[in-house]
Amino acid sequence: MEIEREAEMDPRVLRYLENNRKWAANPEYRTPVRFKEMQKAGRELENGTIIILACTDPRCTPEEFFGMSSERGNKATIIRTAGARAQPALSTLYVLSAVGNLGKKGTIMVVGHTDCGLQSTTDVEIRKVLLDSVREDLNTDDLCEADERLRGGRWGVQLGAFVRPDESVTEDVEMLKRSPFFKGMQILGFVQDTQTGIVEEVESWRRGVDGDVGR
Ligand SMILES: [Zn+2]
Repeated sequence: MEIEREAEMDPRVLRYLENNRKWAANPEYRTPVRFKEMQKAGRELENGTIIILACTDPRCTPEEFFGMSSERGNKATIIRTAGARAQPALSTLYVLSAVGNLGKKGTIMVVGHTDCGLQSTTDVEIRKVLLDSVREDLNTDDLCEADERLRGGRWGVQLGAFVRPDESVTEDVEMLKRSPFFKGMQILGFVQDTQTGIVEEVESWRRGVDGDVGR
């Protein structure tokens, strides 16, 4: 099938679209079950479904490091946010709860990782970079509004910078456990070491590195 080309489209985007056509044309491609059917099956699972919250970092892709595939039927629902932070994932988690088992069963895995981009910065720094990038384009009022947006004022944004991944993961696991909407779910924290690829439960990772500097 010929792909319609936008004049200035990035060649990488075109390659993705070409790959997609090949993927969909594979005779082994199967149309998945309809949403309502999938929802019903998920709700009927005795132990509920698994939701994985991971970082947007392209080096840390849960489908790859947890060996998921359609063929094996072991795919989980994946949410990815900068730093695997739970705050920006909340609206998605609420929707999933409403669609699924209303937080009465199932598991949420929060998976942070070492060498994360949000570890090498601070919320203040991120705010400054963003504001500096629009400073010349905005008048004073709009600049104030932009500043307020980034401070988590009326619009409630948290940028989520952290120092240690075990601390951010633990903080987010605790936050999710406090929510009334996921009360029946098991909420677990993990850290992936990007150097070895190994994912460990957060407590075990912490025990392994305490005393180790700069990780
Ligand atoms: Zn990251």
